[in-house]
Formats: sequence, C-alpha cells, structure tokens
Amino acid sequence: MKRYKVIGVILLGISAWSYGQPTFITKLFHHKVPNVDVSLEMGSVVLYFTQKPTITVTTKIEGDKKRSIYFLPNVRIKSDLKGVADRIQQDADRPYHITIQEVKSPQQGLQVTLTYNPHNVGISYELFDSITLQKGVAFRLFNKKVLSRLQASGKQIIKTAANSPRVVIDCGHGGIDTGAVGCNHIQEKEVNLQVGLQVAQLLIDKKIAVDLVRRSDQTCLLDERTTFANQKDARLFVSLHSNAAPDASMSGIETYCLSPALFSLGDTTLAPEEHSFVSAQLQGKYAQSNALAHAVHSSLLKSVRKYQTTDRRVKQSVAQVLLGTTIPAVLVELGFLTHHKESSLLIQKQYQSRLARGIVSGILSYLHRA
Ligand SMILES: [Zn+2]
Repeated sequence: MKRYKVIGVILLGISAWSYGQPTFITKLFHHKVPNVDVSLEMGSVVLYFTQKPTITVTTKIEGDKKRSIYFLPNVRIKSDLKGVADRIQQDADRPYHITIQEVKSPQQGLQVTLTYNPHNVGISYELFDSITLQKGVAFRLFNKKVLSRLQASGKQIIKTAANSPRVVIDCGHGGIDTGAVGCNHIQEKEVNLQVGLQVAQLLIDKKIAVDLVRRSDQTCLLDERTTFANQKDARLFVSLHSNAAPDASMSGIETYCLSPALFSLGDTTLAPEEHSFVSAQLQGKYAQSNALAHAVHSSLLKSVRKYQTTDRRVKQSVAQVLLGTTIPAVLVELGFLTHHKESSLLIQKQYQSRLARGIVSGILSYLHRA
C-alpha cells in the first residue's frame, strides 16, 4: 500500500512539472504572398516557443469551408503579442482565415484555427529549431489549383535564366530596431544599410532591377519584409546583417540559407502525391538558395582577401526572412561588430564597397550560371 502512495506522489510530481510551467509564444509572423492566384506558396504562419509544444489536429467541415484546428496544450501567448495575433486575424483579403487564441476548455492551451476552402488551399505544418535555438512551428499554405496545374504540366516553379533578372535586397533592422550594437556604439542597422545601398547601385549599373526593402533608417517588421519581397516578381532575395558575440575574438563572414533537413513534417492536409510534389518544389528552391549562398559567400571572401577576413562558411539555419520568402533567399552576416578590428573595417567606406562588390559578383555569377 505504502509503495502505491509513493508512485502516486511521483506521478503527481511529474504532471505538476510538465503542466506547471507554461510554454510561451515568443514571436509570431504571417508571411504573405500577395499574388496568390499564380503562386504555389500562398503564405505561412510561423510561431516560436520557449520549448517544443505538442500539437493535436482536428478538422471540421462547414458548408464549402474546412476548419483545421491545431491545439497546443499548456501554451500561452505573451500579452505584447496579442496585438500581432489580432492583426493576423483581421486580415480579410486572404483565401484563408487565421485565428490564434488562448482557450480554457477542454483544457488550457493555444488554438490556431485555419479556415479555408479545401479545394483551393492545402496546409502542412513543420517543426524546426531556429537560429537562436528556439522551437518553431511553420504552417504553410499552398494553392491547390496551382499545384494541380504544375502536377499536370510537370513544370518547375523555379524561374530560369530567361526571366528578366530582378533582385530584392533587404538591409536588416532599421528605425527603432538598431540590430546589434558593437564596439564604439556602432549600430548594425547603419552598416547593413550602407552596404545594401551600394549593392543596389552596383546592380543597377549592371542593368539588374533592384527592390530595396528599406532605403533609409526605417522600421520594418520581418513579415513585412518577406511580403514586400513576395509581391515583386524577383529572382532572388539577399538579406544583409552584421554579427555580434559575447566573445570579442569572434570575427568573419558567414552566409545562411535553408535546407530541407531543418524541418520535420507534423501533419498535412495534402494527399501523399501532392505532398511529395510540393516537397520536391521546396527542395528545388532550397537547392537554388544553397547555390546562391555559395556564390555570394565565395566571391565576398575573395573580395576582402587582402584583409584576411575569417571564412565562417555557408551555414544552414532557420532565419525568419528565409522562411517567409517564396524565391531563393540567403542571409549574409557581413562581420562582427563586437570584434575591435572588424568593427572599424565595417564602417570604413573602402571595406564596405569591397563587401558590396563581392556580393554583387556573387549574385551575377548565380544569375548567369548555366
Ligand atoms: Zn541582424
């Protein structure tokens, strides 16, 4: 008898431990694709958590609408994100409707509800670990009409060299978001903008059309950046950032892109053959991003060779702007603002223009490859 009591106490202890600490949503994004009629990817909703959540899915049919309800027990939404959830919910001009809310029954938790016409929209959700080691869930929405057209024609959505080249350059941070602050109070947003403006000018000189997400010290949310990029009929997206680290000896350039291995599928409303077709399309995009990352990274390193800048290589990790763009995308970390020598180079016009020339020659070699 005594033994059972002990087991009971242990079980209570475990449940108090697992249910006592709520998981919080720390970030929330809605990446939109403005021209949904011609795009396979219609948009994505991405949530970040303090720890990996469990998700259960139920579906309801109401007339011609389907409701996919994703329930995450013991997950709470921080009060400063409730406005973001409201903004997403109020988005009326999408072919799907999203609500993200805390519920109390049948159990305390978070409910993400997607309402859509199942003939037009398919949904998959994937789990991933982000660059800052937070746990993320991405709900991806697909256009099933475009999907069946592509399946029938066997066509790739990835654009070829025949398309007129147009490039989106994203200077990271800006406005109230300074980004990293390094030696001598150098702000990341400044360095990113100065290099980005030079990249844009050099591309224009080469007769390449450029869209800059920001061209001044302007605040811009991450999902506004991706939505901006997705509405341009562009070939590629390059996001420029500068690094910071507690260890002041860290220096060098690194370039990020996504890879399929970063994601694990949770559930999908797509049929198996639809899902494998979509996966192949996304893998094609990731392969192009990887080629772009290597092209940009190697020519960047070549361009600053005389400074003996450290090669921190091409890395694969989930950064928000890479997740939300429908075109091949890379994120370049131009150097460490917390490294004494590198920070002084990063604000030098001559070094900035070498960085810009390196990025542009990488973009050109990617665009002109066979
Ligand atoms: Zn940054």
